[in-house]
Amino acid sequence: MAPPDTFSNALERWVYRNCASSIVCVELRPNPDLLFDWQNDLFPIPEGPEENVQLAQRKADCQLPMHCTGFVIEPVELDPVHIYVLTCAHALGPVFNAEQPIDVELVNDLYQPYIICDHMEQAYLNELQHNNQVVREYIRGFVVAVNCANDLLLIECTTVRFNVHLRCGMPHPPLAIAPQFPKPLRKVVMVSWPHPTRNRTAVTGEISHPGRQFDELYPENPLGFTMMLSEVQIRSEQGSSGGPLLNGQAEVTGLLHGGNGSFSYFVSLHNLREVLTEWGKAQERPTF
Ligand SMILES: [Zn+2]
Repeated sequence: MAPPDTFSNALERWVYRNCASSIVCVELRPNPDLLFDWQNDLFPIPEGPEENVQLAQRKADCQLPMHCTGFVIEPVELDPVHIYVLTCAHALGPVFNAEQPIDVELVNDLYQPYIICDHMEQAYLNELQHNNQVVREYIRGFVVAVNCANDLLLIECTTVRFNVHLRCGMPHPPLAIAPQFPKPLRKVVMVSWPHPTRNRTAVTGEISHPGRQFDELYPENPLGFTMMLSEVQIRSEQGSSGGPLLNGQAEVTGLLHGGNGSFSYFVSLHNLREVLTEWGKAQERPTF
């Protein structure tokens, strides 16, 4: 008998294959001057010996694009032209707090959102392998909803070939939202895209706890989050924020908020469903 040549994680690999074309990289390109002024209004740097250094650092940070992960969710009505990408609001940086949640119009003034889809990235990597001169292709999007307290942001993108420069006319199947949260110690998968150069970053882990209070995990809460966080033993990093936590049916059970090196914390399924319902985007599923 031939020796086995693979570990038996068939389900994890099935989930991975099934979600790849639904995961995108989100790049938020700032309007530097506006962003700098808005951050100074909302979170003024205190006067003192460090003031100028901190202001210079903020000015430099405001020039840089922010990266996070997003995933495609179901539109309200059948919509062959647009895709709706759900991601985290904290990728916008310190631009809101509990007293002043940001609105959609201001988000679109402060940032131009772009996404990269898996098909376009594969085509790009293929060209690179053949030593062709190519540039990575992005699709322009617009923020259509934001919920600061629950760390959620929704971006609408057009993916059909209206524009000759866009290659992608491929399907981006929406990920279903799970009807219930997996029990503790159940296996889960996360696929994220933490930086444009790192698509299909795949990890597996195990559920630790379904819902922790935000304030009990984070003593400081300058952005004013109120959601419950699901605790999962799974690796994550900054740009993976917004990535979906997937069960064995490739259904979304949470959205990555952050981590502490040992555990990662996800916007709970309960909060996710609540906000999607508010936005008119929840699929009709049994309640849990
Ligand atoms: Zn695509």
